[in-house]
Amino acid sequence: MATINNTPAKPEPVLSAFIKAKCPRCRRGDIFASPTYSLSGQKMHETCSHCGLHYEREPGYWYVAMFVSYAFNVAEMVTVAVGTYILTGSNSPWLYVSLLLGIIFLLSPFNYRYSRVALLYWLTPGLNFEPWRSADKPENPQQH
Ligand SMILES: [Zn+2]
Repeated sequence: MATINNTPAKPEPVLSAFIKAKCPRCRRGDIFASPTYSLSGQKMHETCSHCGLHYEREPGYWYVAMFVSYAFNVAEMVTVAVGTYILTGSNSPWLYVSLLLGIIFLLSPFNYRYSRVALLYWLTPGLNFEPWRSADKPENPQQH
């Protein structure tokens, strides 16, 4: 017990941890058990394997991620629609409808994952990065 190293070598930067969908509290444990685009769907871990954070903060917590996902969808659709108009100048509604439906379908796994990660990282009050938890021995928090 004499040599417990509670100082993380170098904590993961927030953007890198966000992209890799790491736990928002320790930035070490994975939030998801499967990759973004997987035929078997995305499975989430219930708790962080490193610090034990319970990802679903309260019952119905993930419903809020639907609103974040909705915002992502709107932003993506506006971007694609405006980009399409600038590039093609087309007035055909079928072009826009098919492109937008395609982009919604293609990005739905991305939106599913990152709406939850964004909710955990930036939209949950009281859930912050705690650098000491990214150390190798998180089961000894009484040292701090
Ligand atoms: Zn964690």
